[in-house]
Amino acid sequence: MSTARIIEILEWREGVAHRRALIRAGASKADIACAILGGAIVRLRKGVYALPAADPLVAVAARHGGAVACISALRAHGIWVLDGPNRPHVWLGGKGRTHAHPDCRCIDHHDAGRATFGLTPVRLALVQVAQCCDAETFFVAYESAWRLGKLAPADRQWIRSVVPARRRWLVDLARGDADSGLESLVRLRLVRIGISVEPQVLIVGVGRVDFLLSGRLIVEVDGRENHDGQSLRHKDLVRDAAAAALGYDTLRFDYALVVYEWATVERAILARLSRAPHPFVG
Ligand SMILES: [Zn+2]
Ligand SMILES: [Zn+2]
Repeated sequence: MSTARIIEILEWREGVAHRRALIRAGASKADIACAILGGAIVRLRKGVYALPAADPLVAVAARHGGAVACISALRAHGIWVLDGPNRPHVWLGGKGRTHAHPDCRCIDHHDAGRATFGLTPVRLALVQVAQCCDAETFFVAYESAWRLGKLAPADRQWIRSVVPARRRWLVDLARGDADSGLESLVRLRLVRIGISVEPQVLIVGVGRVDFLLSGRLIVEVDGRENHDGQSLRHKDLVRDAAAAALGYDTLRFDYALVVYEWATVERAILARLSRAPHPFVG
């Protein structure tokens, strides 16, 4: 088999393949050796080969004998995940062996099924996150996956049926219209302290606001990418003025406040809510 053909087979498989897959496809040991010698493929470990340009994360997981899993897989699928320690999570399958990996900070997953190389599918990766990470990390990722159209109704039902019981309420609380991971996080935290929240409320004369609390306090959360630049700031000020004229209060928080100074955010919201309602608002 030509080296070009071996490259093609690897390309179909996210850049990584087992020796037996190449042999099954018709490559001989000499063909594989020739491809390695020419630098067209590299040996990741005994019997596992990759294209030099394969995704480094996929290659790391393949070196362990499995697929990129859990939070690492969701990040690679383009799902919004909370920042955290950047340790590779690897799915080795139900019967997967752990290969020696000195000085590695990986986290192994052994969920049932046969792990191949590449990325664990979104719905299984979410279940792994439900088992492996905290409630907030799971909730934020789940809402983001839903919003991005990566979870069909059947996927959501399946996830609900297999996540640990302590995580099921999060699946029930989730919505498919959260604008950003930050919004998901704020809603979950407010619900957890007993504040009822209406997300994505359309207020005539103001527009769609992120959250309305007790019918009178608007809470807006500005994601990392948005809200930089003078014109957007001006737009926000116009909205706040329009809301104030209708008797609404507005509080705005950014990523750093929500993620690193939540106590400040919570105190501000509770203080505003404890004030007497404005006479203009019924
Ligand atoms: Zn994990
Ligand atoms: Zn490792």
